[in-house]
Amino acid sequence: DVPTDDVPTDDVPTLSHDQAQRLSDRLHRTFRSGVTRPIRWRQAQLDALARLLRDNAAELTRAVHADLGKPAAETKLMEIGLVLDEIRFVRARVRRWSARHPKPMPLLMQPAVGWTLAEPKGVALIISPWNYPLMLTFEPLADAIAAGCCACLKPSELSPRTSALIASLVPRYLDPDAVAVVQGGATETGMLLDLPFDHLFYTGGGRVGRIVMAAAAKRLTPVTLELGGKSPVFVDGTANLEVAARRIAWGRFINAGQTCVAPDYVLATPDVIGPLTERIVVAVRRMFGDDPKQSASFGRIVSERHVRRLAALLPAGDDGPHVACGGEVDVAARYVAPTVLTGVSPDDPVMQEEIFGPILPVLEVADAREAVAFVTARDRPLAAYVFSRDRRTRTLFERETSSGALGFGLTLGHLTSSRLPFGGVGGSGMGAYHGKAGFLEFSHVKTVVGKPSLPDTLSLAYPPYDRLKRTL
Ligand code: NAD
Repeated sequence: DVPTDDVPTDDVPTLSHDQAQRLSDRLHRTFRSGVTRPIRWRQAQLDALARLLRDNAAELTRAVHADLGKPAAETKLMEIGLVLDEIRFVRARVRRWSARHPKPMPLLMQPAVGWTLAEPKGVALIISPWNYPLMLTFEPLADAIAAGCCACLKPSELSPRTSALIASLVPRYLDPDAVAVVQGGATETGMLLDLPFDHLFYTGGGRVGRIVMAAAAKRLTPVTLELGGKSPVFVDGTANLEVAARRIAWGRFINAGQTCVAPDYVLATPDVIGPLTERIVVAVRRMFGDDPKQSASFGRIVSERHVRRLAALLPAGDDGPHVACGGEVDVAARYVAPTVLTGVSPDDPVMQEEIFGPILPVLEVADAREAVAFVTARDRPLAAYVFSRDRRTRTLFERETSSGALGFGLTLGHLTSSRLPFGGVGGSGMGAYHGKAGFLEFSHVKTVVGKPSLPDTLSLAYPPYDRLKRTL
């Protein structure tokens, strides 16, 4: 029962300037009152967030399915499950991270003490997209709460059912004076961006990322940008092609390709491009059957507009790329078949922008060096993946390419660990979160020093400098 029409957005409540201002005032008042600082409060809110997810898992899963046709298993595994893991991880460590960390002072300053202390930045604005609407809203929220911040959430208008459910559940579980939800699109986000926040945390495309950063510049607000990009995969003849094909197909076609760290295109050496493509096609068939449209494991595209954008990336006539599998599009059903393209040239439309849908171009490169040159000639991607058993090839990618993350032998896997910072670089974003990186992103690490009045050893540094000269 996948919805077939675009959802009208007029039923989404809009915000007035007065309401936005009052909401901002309320969150700042709460932060200044100090209630969010005690570790006990943070842990209690994290527990409440975990309860929100557990108690309402079925309803949340249904809402995400209604918005995206996303299979329930994917929502449970990749969204609810990962946020619960993150909550557990930060909850167990927040006391240690928030404690004073002593640092030795130089001899010249002795006797003296120094330490660092992570203090909450204040009130954060968290703007999230529609593709993983729970994970990309609640995972930054967990980090913000752990840091002791208040937060205003702005989920995406393109996943309206999930956003409405988030807006109704959050005040029932979390302190409504500390965490608020605003629904709506560009207008409402623009109004929020005019207000003073202490941190802006944005996940989405680079176009809006620039709008967010321009707003941040007006007030010198620190900003995290979790953006996208074209994440490459390199495969050579030393790889286990069977496994590589499955892991590439899984990473590309999960959530119908609408995953920020999905493999965007494959660079394969001449000896493997044929057999690898065949195996990817077989893997697609095993995962989604002969008719993926009937498969309960294959999702839908978020809107008809996005389906049309993807359709324009497919080869139009006999010229250009060859369709190894897929290629079917049904705009009304918001369906794009899992598609593998071969014979792709770097000038083809599919190579000009992040695909963000179930289309996988496979290109030929002579060797790892050519692949590295291909990757480094373009924007730095959010992830890069290498399937090669050759250690020198892996080291070459590690040393000579730059990406948010690098995966050897697997796709997507790095985002599942709270021990690993998650973020982009260059065109794929700035800043990172998950685990301690997320705690620090919403914190200011303050340096504190202290020195007793006596003995006044600093007298050596006071003018006149005659005595200092003698000791230098
Ligand atoms: P989107 O359209 O949902 O937009 C993201 C957010 O920006 C929404 O909350 C939306 O309301 C807001 N927004 C839209 N237009 C705006 C405007 N003019 N002014 C202010 N705010 C506005 O999502 P999207 O941009 O289509 O997301 C897809 C992109 O996000 C892809 O490029 C993908 O790679 C990237 N992404 C990155 C990550 C990551 O973790 N780095 C995760 C998911 C998606």
